[in-house]
Amino acid sequence: MQINQPTITTRGGLRPTHVEVNLDRLSQNLKAIRERTSPAKVMIILKANAYGHGMDAVARHLAPHADYIGVAVLEEGVLLREMGITTPVLVLGGIWEEQIPEFIKHDLTLTASSVERLEHIDQAAGVLGKKAVVHLKIDTGMERIGVHYYSAHTLQEAALGCKHVVVEGIYSHFANADAADLTHARLQLERFNEVLRFYERNGLPTPMRHMANSGAILQLPEATFDMVRPGILLYGVYPSPDVPRTVKVRPALAWSSKVVYFKVTKPGHPVSYGSTWQSDRMVRVVTVPVGYGDGYFRSMSNKAQVIIRGVKYPQVGRICMDQMVVNLGRDGTGYNGDKVVLIGEMDGERITVEDLADWAGTIPYEILTNINTRVPRVYVTAP
Ligand SMILES: *Cc1c(COP(=O)(O)O)cnc(C)c1O
Repeated sequence: MQINQPTITTRGGLRPTHVEVNLDRLSQNLKAIRERTSPAKVMIILKANAYGHGMDAVARHLAPHADYIGVAVLEEGVLLREMGITTPVLVLGGIWEEQIPEFIKHDLTLTASSVERLEHIDQAAGVLGKKAVVHLKIDTGMERIGVHYYSAHTLQEAALGCKHVVVEGIYSHFANADAADLTHARLQLERFNEVLRFYERNGLPTPMRHMANSGAILQLPEATFDMVRPGILLYGVYPSPDVPRTVKVRPALAWSSKVVYFKVTKPGHPVSYGSTWQSDRMVRVVTVPVGYGDGYFRSMSNKAQVIIRGVKYPQVGRICMDQMVVNLGRDGTGYNGDKVVLIGEMDGERITVEDLADWAGTIPYEILTNINTRVPRVYVTAP
């Protein structure tokens, strides 16, 4: 399957440009989230190659400690099953009718986001002579997939008539749980609670309820319900600068490369495509073999910084597809083979995913999920 990620590790050893994922930190982050949300279950979110950390290794490491796994698309769920992961898996995204048998065959939990989808699931399960496990998706203010909260009862009632469907869960998703202003998030929560009263009113058991993403875990304990769905927080990154850091987590991912070339450049000799930067004096510059083809965004050109020998230096000129240049100035030292920290720590200096997001004008999520498959992932265990 295409999303299975090859890594480039052979021919002369590991590619100098690589990502290091600390598996112990992932476990510690999960533990910290559990401590905050216990006794709720935890659905670990592994979509988009586990936020760039490598779904395969992260799933093998964390699945034994998780109650549920959440992914975005069918193919990610199938991959987990092909790896032999037996933990329940919910596919959070919308589904097409023709995919339904694949879900059922692989024992994947489906998101029933409309009455029509639910009926299709019921029919397909009937044909296969199996029961399909579903979670009902309620739209409380995201205006994406899901039945509007004001017509949720149509989905809830339709579910009662399905013979081949087990409604195991019911869920919704926050649009603004990571914001400083929680007005909209609280409104969404109120709407979801109203939808849940259907079960009480009709004397029916309530399915497993879940709504909290990382933002809500940090700042809306009343949204914990029966299960929480941490994504970015699991990887040790806070969803926005506005959230209180009520759960202590640490980044699990570091990204580094090595100096591949050293030279001295003179004034009047601009660096890289478009000649966007030149020095006003003789300076030392080094070439680093990483670029936007690896997911190091071109929009960070002339803004990014890296750490070499424990010192922060500016990236200069346009970031190319496979290479970029760093200015060591007149006195900086760095030579071929020196480690270059792109994300991570060295001798007390630190560059975070948030720094890259600032330079690129985006959010940490996009930085992490764009680190390309050309960049090998190495897994370490270190407390
Ligand atoms: C991605 C996703 C999450 C996790 O979001 P974070 O902000 O990374 O915690 C939770 N729920 C749903 C439905 C998602 O799509």
